[in-house]
Amino acid sequence: MEKRVDAREYHLNSKQAYLNLFFEQAEDSIAVFDLEDRVITVNPAFEKLYGWSKTEAIGRSLPLIPPKNLEGARSRAKELRKGSHYYLFETTDMRKDGTIFDVQISLSPIYNSHGEIIASSIISRDISHVKENENLILQSEKLKVVGEIAAGVAHEIRNPMTVISGFVQMMNEDSNSPYYEHTKLIQKETERIELILSEFLVLSRPQVNQFVNIHLAKIFDDIIQFFQFEFQQKSIDIILQNNYPDVIILGNANEIKQIFINLFKNAMEAIKDGGTITLEVFPSKDNNEIFIRLKDTGCGIPSYVLERIFEPFYTTKTKGTGLGMMVINKIIQDHHGTIKIKSQEEVGTEILLSFPVVQS
Ligand code: ADP
Ligand code: MG
Repeated sequence: MEKRVDAREYHLNSKQAYLNLFFEQAEDSIAVFDLEDRVITVNPAFEKLYGWSKTEAIGRSLPLIPPKNLEGARSRAKELRKGSHYYLFETTDMRKDGTIFDVQISLSPIYNSHGEIIASSIISRDISHVKENENLILQSEKLKVVGEIAAGVAHEIRNPMTVISGFVQMMNEDSNSPYYEHTKLIQKETERIELILSEFLVLSRPQVNQFVNIHLAKIFDDIIQFFQFEFQQKSIDIILQNNYPDVIILGNANEIKQIFINLFKNAMEAIKDGGTITLEVFPSKDNNEIFIRLKDTGCGIPSYVLERIFEPFYTTKTKGTGLGMMVINKIIQDHHGTIKIKSQEEVGTEILLSFPVVQS
């Protein structure tokens, strides 16, 4: 008899040990809450994911849910107490430092031996990387579609536009004409349409690229020279820090130029009365990539603009086209590069580009 009890106890103990092992070593974050949403226990993966230590967490009701999800979370908690489960539910949670991330969570009630619900468990997995990749794919698919539409539209509109602007220009030559003010306006507006078309045409060029070796330093010289007059007029200092003048990337020179023309234009337009634009070039640690950082001391980009900055036609300027950043994004993708934007309102903007380097 005594022996049998021992054996059962041993069995229970080892089961407990297994469970503990699982709990302690699980990759997924696990937290157990009482019915008042206070933490009963959490595992190390929870501490790592949410940034709250076990000691801090136990006994407290933690702000793990971003304000905008609170209502949904409350109704789930209510259902949970009635015995519902949630399996691999996708939502966003909040870390101790306030950052919000994408998670997949599973919620289950925990019963006592009388079948009453006494607690609930939440297993969560960080899926922000998955989400990021999904967004990237979505973005490049969108770009592809927009590019195809742009191709058609740009070509179709170009021809009639050439005729219209030709005649308007001719009419404009007579400054005594009673319609002079109007034709001048028409000409200005047709120029604007042409600007939009030329930006669209970059998107519509054939997919097969003839990439050649490009000296980045040469491109920078050209661009800086191109804008020199405007820099002077707007009291903008330009600082070029390129310790790697021989760096070569593979690409289409006109398109690479277009990237910097658009970036410099945006930087200039962001600077009101005088400022600085800094262009830095530096290699990655493994020398396989080159980074180009363009900093301006302009007005900065509010977060609601940043979210939409690559959208076609999204502009905050009365005379903007909202195509510049979109075109840049497309060209960078075609060149297997990356773009990251950091900005602070009233302080300025930092744009970091990277491209694979051609090894010499
Ligand atoms: P556009 O310049 O025609 O408005 P873009 O696609 O080039 O279109 O830029 C979209 C928007 O992003 C701009 O209207 C502006 O609000 C913002 N933006 C882009 N670059 C900067 C910058 N360097 N500083 C401040 N705002 C910027
Ligand atoms: Mg622009």
